[in-house]
Amino acid sequence: MSDPEPQPESGQNDSLDDHPFKALGLKHKVVRAVVKSGYQEPTHIQAQAIPIVLEGRDVIGSSQTGTGKTAAFALPVISNLNNHGKFRCLVLEPTRELADQVTNAFRTYSKYTNLRTALIQGGVGYGRQKELLAKGVDVVVATPGRLLDHHQQRTINFKDIEVVVLDEVDRMLDMGFLPDVKRIVKLTPKKRQTLFFSATIPSEIEYLAKWSLTNPFSVDVGQRRSPAEMVNHCLYPVAREQKMELLVRLLNDLDYQSVLIFTERKLDAEVVARKLERNNHIAHTLHSDRSQRERKLALEGFKNGDFEILIATDVAGRGLDISGITHVVNYDVPRNAENYVHRIGRTGRANTEGDALTLFSADEGDQVRAIEAYIDKPLERVTLENFEYAFTTLLQKQEVVRPVRRGRNRGYIPANTMPINMNRRRR
Ligand code: AMP
Repeated sequence: MSDPEPQPESGQNDSLDDHPFKALGLKHKVVRAVVKSGYQEPTHIQAQAIPIVLEGRDVIGSSQTGTGKTAAFALPVISNLNNHGKFRCLVLEPTRELADQVTNAFRTYSKYTNLRTALIQGGVGYGRQKELLAKGVDVVVATPGRLLDHHQQRTINFKDIEVVVLDEVDRMLDMGFLPDVKRIVKLTPKKRQTLFFSATIPSEIEYLAKWSLTNPFSVDVGQRRSPAEMVNHCLYPVAREQKMELLVRLLNDLDYQSVLIFTERKLDAEVVARKLERNNHIAHTLHSDRSQRERKLALEGFKNGDFEILIATDVAGRGLDISGITHVVNYDVPRNAENYVHRIGRTGRANTEGDALTLFSADEGDQVRAIEAYIDKPLERVTLENFEYAFTTLLQKQEVVRPVRRGRNRGYIPANTMPINMNRRRR
């Protein structure tokens, strides 16, 4: 870790000396990668965490989604590792998609070093992973189950690990991975640096933090439970049987470039996809019944802009980093208030704006109240102009300003119509 950094040839990297990321203490070769990624200023969590991680201290970071958390730990770790050597940094992720994403981030940020990063996740064969590990890697980004399999088969050895990153720990809890995480941490050397990140830190995982961290520096960016700051979000009350019709109308009206639609159930994701296709909207699905290959293809196609609508369940919702999602639509109100925050956090990432629309039917009132209590503010109710609403008690509960009578709708429509940006382009 303490190798002296080769100095750039005269003039070669001079401009980087003034770069805000250089001022945080990162090595030149890491700052070059940051510049190549187009980052000009560190985000809050980066400004706070990078110098501390560089010092080798433990960190507990509670940050909102999309705040640049990955770079906050990856950049200083890469800077400290410096040159290719042994397997020294382990990153644990709750889902395969996240593991894939964080691996790519490590590879991008270490492109001017000779460090090697391996992705160890389930759902794919062992052969290539074993080959990679045998060749020698510096960083391993893994999901817990597959990592333990490799450890049991002795195809990986934890003895040289210096840094352990536990990412999205609350999601690990949700998915039942905490016992595996604990087993893995126990297998790593006692003398290590531990970086612990979680968008929320419920009391259940506080014990894990206390157990795994030594005198941690706490990085707390923004309110722990508030949704991503830049997202406009609102509810569309509608009778359940009209949800599909309303969704189609919304998609027809929105000038979207990329829409991530969430459904609670895998089956509904498929049903909604088929119905949208019948209405000339090409949509692909992402959920745990799809093979790893199908999930990867769906994600890549969406990221590349091959198609504009991806329909996902919550497994996929957490932590997906797809730049430029213009709209998130909740086809169902999430049953878990935290999931609402994570879902809408898929848009509005890295300080850009995004819109989140939630279709809300009368049977989902409890969930809406739970979300409003969780984020500590009421969600705006919105109706769509010229949509023939069937009767639902929800429409009567609004503050009635302007009575509108139309077709099948015998109720009143509140005056508040369409504040959502209908002309949002992919950023
Ligand atoms: P994360 O919260 O780590 O998932 O990052 C969210 C997105 O922000 C990713 O697309 C990053 O590439 C991007 N990002 C991270 N740091 C910065 C930065 N300092 N400036 C601009 N974009 C950033």
